[in-house]
Amino acid sequence: MTQGVILPGATLGVLGGGQLGRMFVHAAQTLGYFTAVLDPDADSPAGRVSHHHIRADYEDTQGLDELARLCAAVTTEFENVPASALRTLAQRIAVSPDAHAVAVAQHRAREKAHFVHCGVPVAPHAVIESPAQLAAVDAALLPGILKTATLGYDGKGQARVQTPAELAAAWEQLARVPCVLEKRLPLSLECSVVLARGRDGTVVSLPVQRNLHRNGILAVTEVFDGNLPQTITQQALAAAESVARGLAYVGVLCVEFFVLQDGSLVVNEIAPRPHNSGHWSIDGCDVSQFELQVRAMTGLPLAAPRQHSPAVMLNLLGDLWFAHSASAATPPWDAVLRLPGAHLHLYGKREARRGRKMGHLTLTGATPEAARATALQAARILGIDAF
Ligand code: ATP
Ligand code: MG
Repeated sequence: MTQGVILPGATLGVLGGGQLGRMFVHAAQTLGYFTAVLDPDADSPAGRVSHHHIRADYEDTQGLDELARLCAAVTTEFENVPASALRTLAQRIAVSPDAHAVAVAQHRAREKAHFVHCGVPVAPHAVIESPAQLAAVDAALLPGILKTATLGYDGKGQARVQTPAELAAAWEQLARVPCVLEKRLPLSLECSVVLARGRDGTVVSLPVQRNLHRNGILAVTEVFDGNLPQTITQQALAAAESVARGLAYVGVLCVEFFVLQDGSLVVNEIAPRPHNSGHWSIDGCDVSQFELQVRAMTGLPLAAPRQHSPAVMLNLLGDLWFAHSASAATPPWDAVLRLPGAHLHLYGKREARRGRKMGHLTLTGATPEAARATALQAARILGIDAF
């Protein structure tokens, strides 16, 4: 359903109650909207800060009905929300991104086909859904990474394989679910683009973000002039825009890229929502990725974000709670907050677990060197490996 601009005072809904939903709720409430979160967890980070929390499964008809009754528009923070739920809602209220875009992002094989269709380079790969496809895999794809086609995140549902025998064993281990085998590429660095596309096709984007992953999880994002070669930033922005245009996308989209050792750019994957690598925009930009999400879904103007401060973002994983003891201990936030330009964001998760995203810390500075130096100090205080 399409409609006119949805002005503050209306209620906006989000499917999913994690930290992305929580920061969406904060941005929506700042602009004067009421919010509704649909998430089965009684204690979800977003549910606890929202005006309404519908505690129901994503396919629960009653829950979706209540969401549609409360809200003027709905978005998602969780990419594995069933496309059917988005389709049901779209019959009654504005839904962005739409079911089709989310369905493409949910499935690595469809996602890769879309990139190819847009003329954007992807890693050499093969779809493995049957023993015949497994047997037919080109040896040139090895060593490779076998990834489940759906439900992977933070490096989960992936196996590194060197030989055809290891590949066969890994597929067995993944219960023979549909997978994509990707050739392991020689990366020189990783980067991402967060953009917002409006109903009228207007596109605005955050500056290209340079990302460091550890153990398949984003660890550090750095955004300032000179963080990446200019040819890369230009290519990445153009590729991200064409991926969004090809989906007739409405909302915030993240496109993740690899830069190879030969300097070429390869698209990795997309997320149909704000992304961890864009969190720095809350503190380093005049418009955050979450405000862009609100603006895109309501049909408000998409003002181009302006970065006002060089920024470095450190992810705060549950491991930090165990840096000095076997039982969970609160990290020394007071020491971190003594640093100039330190912006602490904790997601209100009650239990710290290793590998769990508990929050992030953005360090801003007058210069890239200042932001980086403070980030290194913060990392030292918290026991995060230097970068
Ligand atoms: P998320 O959704 O949290 O970003 P994910 O589980 O979907 O992660 P990917 O983005 O596919 O996982 O991969 C995680 C990381 O593994 C990448 O950021 C990159 O560091 C490495 N990686 C993935 N694919 C390749 C590849 N083909 N060659 C080399 N490294 C890779
Ligand atoms: Mg990824």
